[in-house]
Amino acid sequence: MPAVPFDYYAPASLAEALALMREHGEDAKPLAGGQSLVPMLTLRLARPTAVIDLNSLTELRTARREDGMLRIGALVPHRALERGEGVLAGCPLLQEAAALIGNARVRALGTIGGSLAHADPAAELPAVAQALEGTVVLRGPEGERAVAARDFFVDVLTTALRPGELVVEVCLPIPAPRAGHAVEEFSRRAGDFGIVTAVAVVELSPAGDLTRVRVALGGVGTTPRRLPKVEAALTGMRPDGRALRDASEGAGDEIEPESDAHASAAYRRHLARVLTRRALGRAVDMAQRG
Ligand code: FAD
Repeated sequence: MPAVPFDYYAPASLAEALALMREHGEDAKPLAGGQSLVPMLTLRLARPTAVIDLNSLTELRTARREDGMLRIGALVPHRALERGEGVLAGCPLLQEAAALIGNARVRALGTIGGSLAHADPAAELPAVAQALEGTVVLRGPEGERAVAARDFFVDVLTTALRPGELVVEVCLPIPAPRAGHAVEEFSRRAGDFGIVTAVAVVELSPAGDLTRVRVALGGVGTTPRRLPKVEAALTGMRPDGRALRDASEGAGDEIEPESDAHASAAYRRHLARVLTRRALGRAVDMAQRG
């Protein structure tokens, strides 16, 4: 099925793109890698009258380190994250997560800003942004604002973006010393969206106790979900196998998955428990190795 007709714009600068976004408001759709938008257009699930191609905005293709944070331009592709190019090597969790996205073609074209703006509840990068307590920087008619990842994802394919706004940057903290992370995912075939994905980030005290625990799950609700009770149960604890297993048992109680063609709600709860335990276990191993 062909897309509903639209006007195509290829602005040469961010200022020009923002002017077009402002002019077309709710009728505009920015185009980044096109890996989600193009299928949405051809299935007529998106019917913009203006498509604003961001691909000439080189200013959104760079990443930099600043004040303990990685500031990643919205157009940085998944492949650069996967390879840990340049400063991106400072956050190896991105490498692990990006490697799980689709296939090589999708990773070459798809972008971090597009993935967050698309807000698929099963996608890896939104769960990573939640687990790292990242921030999404938006620019629009009212200037720039930074939205915490926990407030950015509002519903299925719905974010805090307002008409006329673009994601310009994603800010993620660079891991502290004695920190560890892991992504565990279950999918039917390599490269498929995960049925459930668990992202764990931990930090240990010099004595080896857990000082910080963050777990986010994808595929278990309308947005990526943090597990505050699991996190609280482990904070201050010695991370032995029993503590991790007992805390992970609670993962199924903190989510409200629905049954669909891929998995029942009960199976998703089971995966949440198992993948949380595995992700926490690997994250702790990594932190203990220093
Ligand atoms: P686009 O498709 O260009 O845009 C997506 C949406 O975001 C659109 O609504 C667009 O208007 C909006 N948008 C884009 N950039 C901005 C911006 N800077 N500011 C505001 N709005 C913006 N993803 C996964 O996470 N895991 C997977 O396993 C996975 N598998 C895939 C398999 C296949 C075969 C395909 C085709 C895609 C898959 N994807 C997967 C999706 C992929 O990660 C996309 O790259 C991502 O969802 C969207 O990024 P994009 O740059 O292509 O954005």
